[in-house]
Order: sequence, then C-alpha cells, then structure tokens
Amino acid sequence: MDTTCGWIAQTDALPARAPLTGTQQADWLVIGAGITGLCAAHTLAALHPQARVVIIDRQCAAQGASARNSGFVVAHEHPADNELLGRPGFCGFEVDTAISRAASDEVRQRITRHGIDCDFRDNGYFFAVHDADKLNHVDAKLATLRALGASAELLQGDALHSKLGTAHYQAGIWCGGGNALLQPAKYVKGLLEALPATVTLFENTDITGLERMANGAIRATSASAAVEAQHVLVCLNAFIPRVGLDNSATFPMELSASLTRPLTAKECAAEPWGVLSTRPLGATVRLTPDRRVMIRNTAEYRMRDLSNGELQQRRHHHLRGLQRRFPWLTEQDIHYTWTGHLSASRSGQPYFAKVEDNLYAIAGCNGSGVARGTLWGRLMAEWASGHSSPLLQSVIQRAQPGWLPPRPLFDLGALLRMRVEAVRARSEI
Ligand SMILES: Cc1cc2nc3c(=O)[nH]c(=O)nc-3n(C[C@H](O)[C@H](O)[C@H](O)COP(=O)(O)OP(=O)(O)OC[C@H]3O[C@@H](n4cnc5c(N)ncnc54)[C@H](O)[C@@H]3O)c2cc1C
Repeated sequence: MDTTCGWIAQTDALPARAPLTGTQQADWLVIGAGITGLCAAHTLAALHPQARVVIIDRQCAAQGASARNSGFVVAHEHPADNELLGRPGFCGFEVDTAISRAASDEVRQRITRHGIDCDFRDNGYFFAVHDADKLNHVDAKLATLRALGASAELLQGDALHSKLGTAHYQAGIWCGGGNALLQPAKYVKGLLEALPATVTLFENTDITGLERMANGAIRATSASAAVEAQHVLVCLNAFIPRVGLDNSATFPMELSASLTRPLTAKECAAEPWGVLSTRPLGATVRLTPDRRVMIRNTAEYRMRDLSNGELQQRRHHHLRGLQRRFPWLTEQDIHYTWTGHLSASRSGQPYFAKVEDNLYAIAGCNGSGVARGTLWGRLMAEWASGHSSPLLQSVIQRAQPGWLPPRPLFDLGALLRMRVEAVRARSEI
C-alpha cells in the first residue's frame, strides 16, 4: 500500500541535503527539523548572526508530523466542562488560550515574513457534532470562547448543512478570531526554504545520543558522525527518547489520515472548512480549497508502528467516516492514506525544559503543534540565548505535563483509556 502523505505529494520537493559526516563543530545544534526545530533555527540565526547553527533530521527535513498533520492553526481549543467561564478550570484555560492566540499570530507573522504560500485561510473552523448531545453547555461555551477573544456562533440544521455541504453534522460552533487552516507540508517547506545561509541542515542523520564533554560542550552522535556544540535544542517531539531524554512525561501517539480526490462542485459546493470534534477521539475533517476531503479519525497509543495491513484497516475506518458525510464516496475515491506521530502528555501541557546547562528540549504538542511549535521554537531559542519575556515565563509556568506511571502500568492504563474514549466518540468518527 502506498503510504505517501497527501499534503507532501501535493508539495514540490526540495533538493535533498547531505547527511552529517565526520565530527563537526557548531555554536548551536538543533535536533529535529519539524516546525519547532525550524522555528528555533530561524530565531537562533536572527539572534546570533555570526554563529554557526546546525540542524539535523533523521529523515528528509519537514517530512514528519509537521507535514502530515491536519493543518489546524489553533488559537482556541474546545473548552472542557470545568474550563467554562466561572468554573475552577477557567483561569488555566484563559492562560492557555492567551498562549495559543500568541502562537497563532506567530504563524501569521512567519507566513508573512518568509512569504510562504501554504493555502492559509484565516477564517476559523467548527467544533461540530453528529450527535447533538455531544455539544453540551452551548451557551456557556459560546460565552467562554467570546470572553477569550473568539468570534463564536452556534449553527444547527440547514444553516450548518449549507455551510459544510453535508447533512452529517447536526450542530456546531463556528469559532473565528485567530483560528485558521493551512496546508501543512507547504507551510513547513516554506520554513525550510527560508532558512538563512548561517544555518546548515543535515538530513538522514539519526542522532542516538548526547554526552557532555570535558570542555562543557555537548557531543551529539549518530552511527558514524558527530556534532560538538556549545548549545543544543532538542525538538524531537514524539521521538524525544531517541536521544536518551526519557523523563519528559510525554508519550507518542500514532494517527492516520486519508485525503480523497477533489469533489465536483455538484457533489459539494461549500467553501473550504475544517471541523474539530468535541471528543478527543472524534474525527478531524476538512474540505480543502481544491475540494478534497481529509479525514483523520484514528489516534492510537501503540508499542510499534502500524504495518501496511494495519494501515489498510485504518483506511477502511476513514472510508466509513467519509461515507457518513458523503455517502457516494468509495475506496477508489481515496487518493492518499498516511500516518504520523504526535507527542501527548497526561495534562495536555507540554514538556518545555532546560534539561541541563545549555541543553533544552520540547515535547508534548498534544495535537496543536502547528501554532504552538511555531511559537515554542522561537521561545526556546530565546530562553537558551538568555532572553526573557512575560510570554516565555507563562509558557514555562504552564509546562507541567503531569506524572506518568511506569510501564507496563502506563501501557495498560493508556490502552484502557483509549478504548473508553473510542466508545464515547463512536457517533463522531
Ligand atoms: C495526523 C496528525 C494530525 C495532526 N493535526 C494537527 C493539527 O491540525 N493542528 C496542529 O496544530 N497539530 C496537529 N498535529 C500535531 C502536529 O503535527 C505536531 O504537533 C507538530 O508537527 C510538531 O512539530 P515538531 O517540529 O515539534 O515535531 P515533528 O514534526 O515530529 O518533528 C520532529 C523531527 O525530528 C526528527 N527526528 C526524529 N528522531 C530523530 C533523531 N533521532 N535524530 C534526528 N532527527 C530526528 C523527525 O524526523 C522529525 O522531522 C497533528 C499530528 C498528526 C500526526
């Protein structure tokens, strides 16, 4: 089965860069060339124009989750019941939303500064449901979102059907005011192309360990080469344990998605849209500007990556979700099916840490890393360079990913929780 990501397939490839060879010296080393690492490298290059910045990726840069995600630029999350205005969790939700809004602005600024053409649509998205009971406390949600700077409107029945071009969804909150959609592979390619000449990128280089040298520098090693750097930023997200950082309290999740052929105007005349579920394991769905439908309706905690056969089963699951929205679609209408890994934490908050002197790391994007990764990359580079700001302090304060029980207890707990969430999301896949 072809597992090419649909976004990557529709984005011009950049020439491959050489792998790391020998032992190289750098002032700054960034490990991981996704959104977070690339934004960190941009900021380092701007702050230290004379410095040599090296960035390394184990595959081709900008081909991981950063290119494979659903492209939601999240300024406002769907509030949980205890986060509603007047409830105990509202204060935390307010701080998190302020961070997310800053993150979404950061994406806009990056797109403008680097002239990135990534089908950016600054027109909000929907929190929509098939089963109207899954959208409870609607008035309180509207009030909460509006109190935090969002434009939020409830749409139901025909009003919603005509917006989305499908009668599947019964109710939804349209949420604008910073929320946007983009084509992720084009966005991350734009970040990559815009890297200044002082940043050297090495691809297809798997960093497997970090060690402190006698002179205080850090040596990052691959099977056959190494970089010795004064400062290291680890931007590996779901793969953070690969360089020996095991205490991030984050865990990987494997997601899968499919993208259809373009629908005809007769099949769906709606403007492009994006729908997020109100349930953690519900489907994320988009109608793209060229009228393809993207669905992501699996998210799994797994011990090993999906095999081809297992991905085929996930594709059938995508098809079922597609047919609930557009009943005439068949498997032949699915043009691409792919997987990607994100990094999750128990609390929903990131690991954003100074690990040791001159060693910093980020993980735990929890599914909002397009905007947050863009911001965190900059903030981490600023922190490591000795700068501070109220926003950075706020991110550091909120970065409490929570405690994870040891394995195999955690594995069992996570699998059980996933089952429960899957049942709760049954009407929303
Ligand atoms: C299917 C899917 C849908 C998603 N939808 C959304 C969405 O709509 N909106 C949103 O905000 N977020 C979404 N996310 C999450 C989002 O994609 C991530 O939060 C974001 O891409 C994180 O970026 P990153 O740079 O931190 O990590 P990554 O993009 O994962 O980059 C890490 C890089 O490190 C490299 N690497 C790994 N190991 C090593 C090593 N040992 N040595 C060197 N390099 C290494 C990898 O190759 C990779 O390029 C989604 C994720 C998935 C998988």
